[in-house]
Amino acid sequence: ADFLAPRLRRVRPSPTAAISDQVRSLSAAGMDVINLGEGELDFDTPAHIRQAGIDAIVQGDTKYTAVAGTAALKQAIITKFNRENQIGYRADEVIAGSGAKQLIFNALLATVSSGDEVIIPAPYWVSYPDMVALAEGEPVIVPCHEKHGWKLQPEDLAAAITPKTRWVILNSPNNPTGAVYCAGELHALAAVLLDHPHVLVMADDIYEQICFVPGIFATLANVEPRLKERVLTVNGVSKGYSMTGWRLGYAGGPAWLISAMQILQSQSTSNPSSISQAATVAALEQGSDFITGWIEILQRRRTMIMNCANAISGLSADTPPGAFYVFANCQGMLGKTTASGDILRTDEDFAAYLLKSAHVATLQGSAFGAPGYLRIAYAIDDSRLQEACERITRACAELR
Ligand code: PLP
Repeated sequence: ADFLAPRLRRVRPSPTAAISDQVRSLSAAGMDVINLGEGELDFDTPAHIRQAGIDAIVQGDTKYTAVAGTAALKQAIITKFNRENQIGYRADEVIAGSGAKQLIFNALLATVSSGDEVIIPAPYWVSYPDMVALAEGEPVIVPCHEKHGWKLQPEDLAAAITPKTRWVILNSPNNPTGAVYCAGELHALAAVLLDHPHVLVMADDIYEQICFVPGIFATLANVEPRLKERVLTVNGVSKGYSMTGWRLGYAGGPAWLISAMQILQSQSTSNPSSISQAATVAALEQGSDFITGWIEILQRRRTMIMNCANAISGLSADTPPGAFYVFANCQGMLGKTTASGDILRTDEDFAAYLLKSAHVATLQGSAFGAPGYLRIAYAIDDSRLQEACERITRACAELR
């Protein structure tokens, strides 16, 4: 008997979670795998934030909280949006959840129903299309191109909007390409969106702090205040504060939407961990001086990967302005033959080859809706990254 609900058939398991599982089991079996597949910084959560979590435990801050987050956390979120993004949200316009992922999921589940379309520019974060599918909506994938810096063009957005469009999802800095939309580019998209009052916009700003071009980051609700009532601004501490395991994200948006997300949360997870909430108050309130040092380190690593990729015939990449991924064109690798006689036909074959013969895990672009590319995450320590570069170079040199 098939006990699974039909809705589950529309969903694929997360390919990023799959590669991490694969790396864990290969490592457990004794293989020395270097993981450039994971979307996670290797830095420790800063000490003052960890201490705030410890303090919360010691003080008995270990009970259920208000569904949308404690009053202290909500205030910290409001202050963050005000100070860093110049967006004014009231307390009923913000919510904390168990990761940005849960908030995005709840927002889609609360608003998308059968036949509704959600515009997702590709390359995209792997979870968007499947979340839309779970909500019984239709993901409408709009390809973006390397020659446009991987950014959605206003005319392509306009052409994709139909009367059934519910959402457009914007993600900047972008996973997997590292693309960052500047204020001018958001203005141009906003001009299109102003003509379509039935469309909501998700601004997934989770990589806000991981930006290598000072001052370039911008977010839609700030750039075009007339859209604010239709924008959900999603953020969190996973990437900028290296707090992926704490599972704490937050969002600001119109009160009706926040309240709908809150209902879903109240009937599923109840509230994000009280301990993580306390730690996040410390993260948001005590500044992030450490980020300058992190950016320097990441920039050095980015250069290592860029030099490696561009020195290999058949691979090429442009310097990404944000996030911690290089999205390399590997079309020149396709059709090549391995030492054991296998032909690499797809980006997936190429990624599998690197794992098998170089013991380096990466992710094929097709997982992100962009076949012919390879996402290389470089948030691991310099010596391991150097070793990974050498292994990739050697494995590629063996191809004919
Ligand atoms: N959005 C994007 C684009 C991401 O890459 C990720 C994590 O990989 C998330 C959201 C989810 O972040 P969180 O850890 O806060 O759930």
